Amino acid sequence: MTKNAEVVRVLKEMALLLQVQGADPFKAQAYQRGVRSITSLGEDIAAIAARDELTDIPGIGKGLAEVIKDYLDDGQVEKLNELRTRVPIQVMELDAIPGVGPRTMKLVYDKLGVTDLESLERAADEGLLEDLPGLGKKTQEQILRGIAVAKSGMGRTLLADGLLDAEAIVTKLRKLEDVKRIDITGSSRRRRETIGDIDILVDAEVSGTIMETFVGIEGVADVLAHGDTKSSIRLQSNLQVDLRVVTSDSYGAGLQYFTGSVDHNVKLRALAQKKNLRLNEYGLFKGEKKIAGDDEEGIYKTLGMDWIPPELREDQGEIEAAQEGTLPKLIEMKDIRGDLHSHTDQSDGKNTIEEMLDAAQKKGYEYYCVSDHTQSLTIANGMDEARLLKRIDEIDDLNSSGRWKMKILKGAEVDILKNGELDIKDEVLAQLDIVTVSIHSRMKDSKEMMTERVCEALRNRYAHILGHPTGRLLLKRPEFEIDLQQVFEMAVENNVIMELNAHPQRLDLNPGNLRIAKRLGLKVAINTDAHWTDELDHMRFGVYQARRGWIERDDVINTMSLKSMLKAIKK
Ligand SMILES: [Zn+2]
Ligand SMILES: [Zn+2]
Repeated sequence: MTKNAEVVRVLKEMALLLQVQGADPFKAQAYQRGVRSITSLGEDIAAIAARDELTDIPGIGKGLAEVIKDYLDDGQVEKLNELRTRVPIQVMELDAIPGVGPRTMKLVYDKLGVTDLESLERAADEGLLEDLPGLGKKTQEQILRGIAVAKSGMGRTLLADGLLDAEAIVTKLRKLEDVKRIDITGSSRRRRETIGDIDILVDAEVSGTIMETFVGIEGVADVLAHGDTKSSIRLQSNLQVDLRVVTSDSYGAGLQYFTGSVDHNVKLRALAQKKNLRLNEYGLFKGEKKIAGDDEEGIYKTLGMDWIPPELREDQGEIEAAQEGTLPKLIEMKDIRGDLHSHTDQSDGKNTIEEMLDAAQKKGYEYYCVSDHTQSLTIANGMDEARLLKRIDEIDDLNSSGRWKMKILKGAEVDILKNGELDIKDEVLAQLDIVTVSIHSRMKDSKEMMTERVCEALRNRYAHILGHPTGRLLLKRPEFEIDLQQVFEMAVENNVIMELNAHPQRLDLNPGNLRIAKRLGLKVAINTDAHWTDELDHMRFGVYQARRGWIERDDVINTMSLKSMLKAIKK
């Protein structure tokens, strides 16, 4: 478990506090630069600090290094405490509301005494925001919508963040002699996009050492409970982790029970009852006799159905399919043969093209597409036609260099303009292998406008893939308004592939949309959209999400051989 996320939170809070206090803008900017830099760090910042090399990190000067060291020493930062006492605004809580930045925080504090989400919601409900300079009725409505998003995400963690913590704990406990079996259960095992807490289940006869190790694990902020069969901790990242120890004969029943979902389990229990059986976390019983419980397979089998992959356990037809033997054969990581959406330092990526290719090669890919941003995305240093043409030549050279076994594909993530046109001329697009078209601007367009804009882009004869189709950022920004059904139909007509963006914060399409797309016969591309080498690891989160959407290998174009894949995207 790295300390990076915690340090990022500290620096972010300091930047916000400086901004609402109207401090020298350069100071706040320095902290923001620190946030960006540590967010993309490929190593534990505590390890770097231990080597006394913090200032070697780009964007970390002496001042920031002091703050970071302070925090790593004892979890306290004197400078931060000082800033907090000066203004009582809950900046992190307010920052979680989409559409609320430091300028608004300062304004509503100065004029209305708003200090947190609750007081902001009250003020907006009473209509007090619309009279403030620069806000108005429309902004007030946006803020109310933002508050709803923030509330739905409160106490939630991105799957990727939680899962990395959970896996680190499991790896540590697995080494203990007393541990026979150990699994992550709950919503993490079902690979939900966000999770509330982590549940871990252990099969063991004696639990003393296991519990001792668990409550003493690195990164613990609080021990909430320490017992023989159950212990709970709160990590410094604020995530709660529950550990349960059960004996071998009920391990499968416990795994099934604690994996959920509630709806899935309710239906299973009702089914058991119909067969005059009783299902609970200890086993499946006929009268007093336990007839299954050692493993999950046994439970499902005894209930008359196939074992159901955890990602499907949402009571969305999976139980019926398991009874009929018609469950999908879900896509797996090993099916993935390439990644079709990635960036380099030519636009807003952090690594050079060579570094990205080296990292992709290590994944064993057969092909890899480099697709930097195009010109209208100026904040991402998007490429114009001249730079794109140069890039095309460069990739030809890289391919013939023989340094990479995989095929390097020429691509771009082309911006969809206001009227649905693409921001690169057709004659240049024609020279690319894969054109991904994406919305990065005017995300507040009306549903009709957005739908028409995207449909128009899909009509372009060179548009191969629609990138991150809903634009959402989990826990941060809702989907933009768009009629996906209409977009899907347009995509079918024009043979456009839908992207399932594997970034843990995006993961759009969601499972419901994936099932609709599949029913319409649309193909999906699972892409990392990596902006630096570490992000190539995100592929598995895309695969998890695809599995939640009942997606099979043949629904996904980057499971195909290079030749078939290129044929499949042809218009
Ligand atoms: Zn994009
Ligand atoms: Zn991208």
